[in-house]
Amino acid sequence: MTEIPSLDPPKRVLMGPGPSGADTSVLAAMGLPLLGHLDPEFIRIMDECQQMMRQVLRTENEVTLATPGTGTSGMEATVMNLLQPGDRAIIGICGYFGDRISQMAARTGAEVTIVTAPWGSPIPPEAIERELRAAPTKLVAVVHAETSTGVRQPVEAISALCKEHGALLLLDCVTSLGGVPVEIDEWGVDAAYSGTQKCLSAPPGASPVTLSPAAWSAIQAREAPSNSWYLDLNLLEAYWDSRRAYHHTSPISMTYALHRALALVLEEGLESRWHRHESNGRALQAGLEAMGLTLHADADHRLPVLTTVRIPEGITDTDIRGALLQRFGIEVGGGIGELGGRIWRVGLMGESSTAGNVLFFLASLGRLLREHGFQADVGAALDVAASRLDS
Ligand SMILES: *Cc1c(COP(=O)(O)O)cnc(C)c1O
Repeated sequence: MTEIPSLDPPKRVLMGPGPSGADTSVLAAMGLPLLGHLDPEFIRIMDECQQMMRQVLRTENEVTLATPGTGTSGMEATVMNLLQPGDRAIIGICGYFGDRISQMAARTGAEVTIVTAPWGSPIPPEAIERELRAAPTKLVAVVHAETSTGVRQPVEAISALCKEHGALLLLDCVTSLGGVPVEIDEWGVDAAYSGTQKCLSAPPGASPVTLSPAAWSAIQAREAPSNSWYLDLNLLEAYWDSRRAYHHTSPISMTYALHRALALVLEEGLESRWHRHESNGRALQAGLEAMGLTLHADADHRLPVLTTVRIPEGITDTDIRGALLQRFGIEVGGGIGELGGRIWRVGLMGESSTAGNVLFFLASLGRLLREHGFQADVGAALDVAASRLDS
């Protein structure tokens, strides 16, 4: 090698399914001095993170921690620790991430029953109820905000059914936390995990996890320890609680970023933050429809933080996404799974959820669609979106 490579990532407008943009103070937090993972000052920072995670998750759960790793690490920790061979689990699949949970559940040796809904709708509670009646069940898992489809899953009816049938409820809150209401205690959710890189707007790398006393007892009652050593929640809790037993070297800088990101959420206030996401998401959706495009998710269950829009006839997915990135510096997502090539996924998460991004994206997308022969009504799109943003 003659030249030493330099590191010079361009500035993007991150409007995909994650990561979202991060506030400069969150990124700057990662440059603060390193501490040892058992330094009393670092322990204090962990405790504050734990307290702030409880506030953002709206829970009093004692067992609340962040697993080292992206959102998938929280998924793996909860699934691997809550299930063991002989257990029965019901997994709701109406998109890519429900399917990922079921793949993990199958690896635990549990008996996995799948309940499905079309990719664009939520799981109907009656379908879960039918399976709960069929046989004793340890765990029901659903995805709160299905990032592959843009659908919000109603949780309370499913939670009530779980209580009635003595099953634990596991909720994937990766894309919902910090963007739309998540009420762990009020809804009676037993186990939940999230991620830093979606509506919490920190870099990818940590996964807030919380467990109700019932979920924690179920883990204590296991016959054998979890098959995962790194994500064994007993060992992780022994580091996060007062025992402070070494398990792994905490990702120190990531913990600083999480701390700053959670503080920003609380400074803004959860209700105002939900309102900001709602208002920008609805403006974007109204603008896309005014442009002449069709939204994919069921109208009654559309997430404001992740919008799915169908790619019009005659338009090639990668032409438009490539040009959005190259010419306007905007990243949006393509479809995954069975929606590959059929939809775009537009995120308005955390710091990326701004009125400016809504209008910039609509103008850029409209311009490119016209160049490719689709008669996008850009004027109407901007007009409708702007009037929704004003109100
Ligand atoms: C992004 C996402 C995940 C996985 O998170 P990673 O940070 O990519 O590991 C899990 N579930 C949902 C709903 C997601 O959107």
